[in-house]
Amino acid sequence: MSINVTRSSMPDYEEFCAEIRDLWDSHWLTNMGEKHNKLEKALKEYLKVPYITLFVNGHMALEDLIASFMLPKGSEVITTAFTFASTTHAIVRNGLKPVFCDIDPADCTMDESGIEALITKNTSAILPVHVYGNPCHVEAIEDIAKKHGLKVIYDAAHTFGVEYKGKSLSAFGDASIISFHATKVFNTIEGGAAVYRDKDRASILDDLKNFGIRDPETCCYAGGNAKMNEFQAAMGLCNLKYIDAEIEKRKRAAERYMERLEGVKGIRCVLSNSSDITKRNYAYMPVVFEGYKYLRDEVWQKLKDQDIIARKYFYPLTRDFRCYSNLKTYELPVSERMAENVLTLPLYAGLSLEDTDRICDIILK
Ligand SMILES: *Cc1c(COP(=O)(O)O)cnc(C)c1O
Repeated sequence: MSINVTRSSMPDYEEFCAEIRDLWDSHWLTNMGEKHNKLEKALKEYLKVPYITLFVNGHMALEDLIASFMLPKGSEVITTAFTFASTTHAIVRNGLKPVFCDIDPADCTMDESGIEALITKNTSAILPVHVYGNPCHVEAIEDIAKKHGLKVIYDAAHTFGVEYKGKSLSAFGDASIISFHATKVFNTIEGGAAVYRDKDRASILDDLKNFGIRDPETCCYAGGNAKMNEFQAAMGLCNLKYIDAEIEKRKRAAERYMERLEGVKGIRCVLSNSSDITKRNYAYMPVVFEGYKYLRDEVWQKLKDQDIIARKYFYPLTRDFRCYSNLKTYELPVSERMAENVLTLPLYAGLSLEDTDRICDIILK
């Protein structure tokens, strides 16, 4: 039987139907309807964050969140290239210049020791990624940002439910985005949110996601359309009821992987084991093959031969995308090494321990 790298969590069919039933009475399908507002409130409580604004997807949340800071056009944003396309694209699509910092091999997040050398008079912000739900070195990054008067915006796409020192990881920095894509821990089919600590940002984000329109006769920004619709919100309301149980199931599979793979020469799981992480979400199972009897690509192929799809996540680095030939000059030896050797193994709530064992057997054979 084939196994994909992930499998979307879904509520019972009848439960979703019951949740969307009243849409046939109201005929209100989008534009900040009842379900949108109910989900926004429920997520604010679940995540224990000061302010949250929902979006049609995580990428548009990031584009609009960056836009809401009104950074000088053409200014530089220090970020990492070991990430999904979205992070770098969101910076570029805002008319800003990505400047790549290397990563820490222990957790694949930004190596803060490289930040200061990249700061120039044109730097306006730092945009690190909590890769795989591993917390960035948030205190060190905050110190550097304070010292140089820079904004800190996190790509927290992977962090749904993660807590660091008892506080939502998405609440660190000036602001963050989370993704609710079908492949993420919590999904609204497609969806996302911006999380932030300053109240004034709420109305800017509400405007930006709705063409910049504040009221029928007032348009404040050249905004796009990035609103979450009622069907997405209904899926979110259903999925939120089971999120803790779903994370618990992911945990069982993730722990089985770690039992079987950790300690094997040349294999290392890249999930941070910091005791400061007070709640985990087991979003991914990233494993690095360095000095193992098989190369990463060989392991990937062995699994594929058995119809098991692992992902080279993140390979290639965004620096090496064809559309970024102008960014090739950044030297990122650790990012390169990780991109060459990492493999994200299948992990989702419904993955059985038998299947987890079968995957481990193929890797270890
Ligand atoms: C998934 C993801 C996004 C974008 O989220 P979407 O909801 O798919 O638009 C952004 N950054 C990272 C690191 C992601 O993994």
